[in-house]
Amino acid sequence: MALLDGKRLLVTGVLTDSSIAFHVARLAQQEGAQVVLTSFGRQMRITQVIARRLPREAPVVELDVTDAGHLDALAGRLGEHVDGLDGVLHSIGFAPPGAFDFLGASWDDVATALHVSAYSLKSLAVATRPLLARGGSVVGLTFDARYAWPVYDWMGVAKAAFESTNRYLARDLGPDGVRCNLVAAGPIRTTAAKSIPGFEVFEETWQQRAPLGWDVTNAEPAARACVALLSDWFPATTGEIVHVDGGFHAMGAG
Ligand code: NAD
Repeated sequence: MALLDGKRLLVTGVLTDSSIAFHVARLAQQEGAQVVLTSFGRQMRITQVIARRLPREAPVVELDVTDAGHLDALAGRLGEHVDGLDGVLHSIGFAPPGAFDFLGASWDDVATALHVSAYSLKSLAVATRPLLARGGSVVGLTFDARYAWPVYDWMGVAKAAFESTNRYLARDLGPDGVRCNLVAAGPIRTTAAKSIPGFEVFEETWQQRAPLGWDVTNAEPAARACVALLSDWFPATTGEIVHVDGGFHAMGAG
């Protein structure tokens, strides 16, 4: 029996085949899951093309996580493809360029970063709650928010809020039998990462310090951890953050 046999999953965040979410969708299908994707606006066309590169083409439902109408309609739209959900992947992040200047950032830039990258975990969980079965799993992706990093600035603050949101969701969805966990991935060369000015600084530091080494072109280790958390193999784990970073987080210097 495969790891996700019979599971019905909603996977957000597939933009290109470099997206972490693309690899989660690919591996999830290989492990027996039925997958529905989301995308929005002009990106919708790109996601539909990329969806054909999966082992089985997946339907794409419209979802901008800042659009209350999309969130309200989500359960109904998903109902056209699946009769319930066993898992949801939140793989969404965005901050305007101004948010990568910590002291100069405007509240508007910061508010957008927090809305899209942190509050959206709550929005997505609430929008899918009517469909989520007992034993269900909500999984998101973070970049270890315990530290002040170079260049990450208000996106780092948004990730700290995201990590806290995960713990509160774990509290409030636990009684429904739904687990909420995050994967703290090391740097991976995706569209979101390349839009961060100076992102290369992480790539070099990681290669030097991670005891297991780190390949910035390989999203599969992070995607595998997401698949594991979406499976039945972490039945008593919630509010957790699993580091998939080659061991970087555990090193003091290097
Ligand atoms: P990506 O650019 O492939 O994916 C980001 C996704 O966010 C895109 O699919 C985009 O459509 C979606 N998105 C942006 N605004 C949205 C909105 N308003 N509504 C719905 N979707 C929206 O990049 P990625 O690196 O695969 O990012 C996925 C997640 O992984 C993000 O949360 C990111 O912060 C996190 N992460 C990335 C890295 C890395 O180094 N790439 C490391 C740790 C964590």
